[in-house]
Parts: sequence; C-alpha cells; structure tokens
Amino acid sequence: MKRLVILGGGESGVGTALLGKDRGYDVFVSDKGIIKEKYKKVLLHNEIEFEEGQHTETKILNADLIMKSPGIPEKVALVKQVRANGIKVVSEIEFASKYTEATLIAITGSNGKTTTASLTHHLLKQELDVGLAGNIGDSFAKQILEKDFPNYVLEVSSFQLDDIIDFKPKIAILLNITPDHLDRYDCVFENYIASKFRIIDNQTKEDYFIYDADDVVIESWLKQHSIQSTLLPFSLTKQIENGAYLDKDNIKITIDNNQIIMPTANLALEGKHNIKNAMAASTVAHLLRIRKQTIRESLENFQGVEHRLEHVLKINKVQYINDSKATNVNATYYALESMDAQTVWIVGGEDKGNDYNELFQFVNEKVKAIICLGVDNEKLMNSFGNMVDVIVETQFMSEAVKIAYKIADAGENVLLSPACASFDLFENYEDRGRQFKDAVRNL
Ligand code: ADP
Repeated sequence: MKRLVILGGGESGVGTALLGKDRGYDVFVSDKGIIKEKYKKVLLHNEIEFEEGQHTETKILNADLIMKSPGIPEKVALVKQVRANGIKVVSEIEFASKYTEATLIAITGSNGKTTTASLTHHLLKQELDVGLAGNIGDSFAKQILEKDFPNYVLEVSSFQLDDIIDFKPKIAILLNITPDHLDRYDCVFENYIASKFRIIDNQTKEDYFIYDADDVVIESWLKQHSIQSTLLPFSLTKQIENGAYLDKDNIKITIDNNQIIMPTANLALEGKHNIKNAMAASTVAHLLRIRKQTIRESLENFQGVEHRLEHVLKINKVQYINDSKATNVNATYYALESMDAQTVWIVGGEDKGNDYNELFQFVNEKVKAIICLGVDNEKLMNSFGNMVDVIVETQFMSEAVKIAYKIADAGENVLLSPACASFDLFENYEDRGRQFKDAVRNL
C-alpha cells in the first residue's frame, strides 16, 4: 500500500484524504496547528489517522507521496526536510485531477479569481453540469469522490500551481499579475510570475489560454516564451481578432468566426475590472457553446460575490459598499476607479509593503475623507495626509462607520476597500466585511 501524507488538515487536506483513502492509499494527515472540529469529525468518521499541533517526522518522511496544503510555505523546516529527502510533493489540484476525466477550466491571477470563477460557473451551469472548486467552496478532491462532474471551474492560486506536475486544464485563464504574496517567493517578482504561468505548462494546441492582453507583465512574458496553447486574449484597449475586446460600449467575442456581442450597460457587476472578468468568463461560455442569449441573460442577473464591491445599504441617499476582499493596492485601485461620486474611504490594516502612488489620482479626484482602520496607520497618514481635508484613525469598525456616516452627504459613497490584509484587527477579510455590514445596519 502506498503511503499518502497530507500536510494541513483544512478543506483541501481533508478532501484529499478522503479521495486518497478511497483510491487505496494508506493516508496520514498532519497539521502543525489545530484542526477544525468539523474536519476532525470527518477524519474520525472515515478512520483516517491524523495528528494536530505537531509534525511527527517518522510518520511523514516515510511517505511515497505528500500533498502539501497551499497555506504551508516552503520555508517551514519540515517541508525543507521533505524536499531534501526527495519525496514527491503535489498540490490538491494535481492529486485530484488524476482521478477525473472532466473538462477543467482553471482560473488564476492576482485579483478577480473568485469573482471570475463564480461568474464562469454561473454562466456554464445554465446549460452544463459543472462543479465549482479550488480555493472556493467544497474541495475539488471531495467533489470528485462524491459526484464527479463532467466539468469543473477551478479557482487556482499560485500556491496550488507551485506543486503541479501534470495538471492540464482544457481552458486556462490568467486575469492579471501584480506583485502579491512575494514573501512566499523569496521577494522575487519573477518567481511569482513563473508560478502563475505554470497554469499553461502542460497545455497543447488543443487547449485554450485566455488572458488579459492589456497586462504588461503578461504580454512581456509571452513575448519571451513560446507556448503551445491556443490563445484567446481579452482587451479593453485594442481590437482582438480571436478573443474578446471592447468596441465602444459592447463586448465582442470572436472564436472561429463565430461572434457574440454584449452591451456593457447591462452587466450586473460594475467597474472596468469587472468588464474584464466578464470578458474572460463569457469567452469560456462561448467556447463551450453556451447559447448567446443565455450568456447575455446570465451576465445581467449575476448576483456578485460577498465582500467584493458589495452594495450593502443606502442610508440617507449614501451608498455603503463593502470591498473587504481588497487586500492589496491593485484591488483598491479598481474599487476607487469605479466610484461614481465623492467617497468616504475606509482603508488600512496589515500593510504588505504597499506602494500607494497609483491611487493618488483617484484620491485627489474622488475621495473627500479617509478613515484609517488599522493598528498602525502611520504610512497611510503620511501618504494621504495632505491630499484630503479630513483624515482620521480608529481601531474599531463600528467607530469607523459612525464617523463615515457623519461625514458623507447625500449622493456620496462610503467605501470599505482596505488595500491591506485584515489580520491586525480581524480574524480574516470575511470577519472584517461582516463587521462593516453589521455596523452599517446598526446606524
Ligand atoms: P481573488 O479571488 O483573486 O482574491 P476576488 O474576486 O476575490 O479575487 O476579488 C478581490 C478584490 O479584487 C476585490 O476587491 C475585487 O473587487 C477586486 N477585483 C476583482 N476583479 C479584479 C480584476 N480583474 N482586477 C483587479 N481587481 C479585481
């Protein structure tokens, strides 16, 4: 019996454990932290051996195969030892994709993965039997075990891509590349870029690569490398023969001379970034022959995803918007860009080495007041202090929202778009977003 050791007892770890056990592996799960109750129950119920709070080397270094959860960095001592011992390490998508014949649509990028994966799933599910997995919802491995869908939309992070070997999506999407998570890539941007492009490593010309042709990082990488995949770029600025582009107020997508035209005015999601996301998702749908009318309707009625430019409430004609998922500057860039009125901006948290320069134009134009919400707000105060009349700081969401309520006038927006991680004051970005919404509802 081959031994499969799984590092990390979260959603992907436990899903992999279940699939691995079913496919005849001797499975062991090891988590340095505490495993959540609901996952422990599943492991116990399925008689899968596990440990928590530690990594017992003797039970790990005897593995034939290791599945490393995406959250575990390479610099962890045990991972270094695993590498030194030459044990094969894979990610969940690598392990699980061996056990399905499904058409895989894999979506990566620095920003917009969840939105685009959800939108793509929404478009496809109207006419196809399709699962949604990866960094979203139920684990991919578990879904393959329980109900193997003929198609999957996968949200894929660079950490998942770091440990693929044969993973080969029929359709790969690369939304954009901006510096993020560089701590995991020896602070070298090129390493992070290379990781993202691994999504097309195993593709042939029968497979499709959908990407942002306006993204300078992507374009320059493509110029320097030869790739096999059939290219279907999308662009807001140039005309695209095969792929998607913006022609005045219409999205036009052409694949093999078959064109679909969709007015942007009818899109459910706002902002330029969401036109790009819609282009990417609709290109997949068009490629998989979803009816044009279905694509148009589904783009109009898509409900959006929580914490991403989510419209919470209008109070006294002030619109409150929750963009808690904006944990980097680029995401906040698009949030501010899409503001159509003067905005009170709640920003701050754990700074990941942010460069705020690219936000200056929008702050000058659209931001009437800034509320810094973090443990350490010095950098924000220094960066934006002389750009707006009002800049204050607080460590409490309820207070931040109350201050915003006082400052905002009818017709204006209150936007939570932190550009930072949430861990200094909140459990995670979901907790931050929920606290914002609760505070707004309590006004
Ligand atoms: P991810 O899953 O990659 O983190 P999300 O869809 O959760 O992406 O969105 C994260 C943040 O980025 C949100 O604030 C959202 O409004 C913003 N965003 C969404 N799509 C894009 C895009 N194409 N480019 C830049 N920012 C985006």
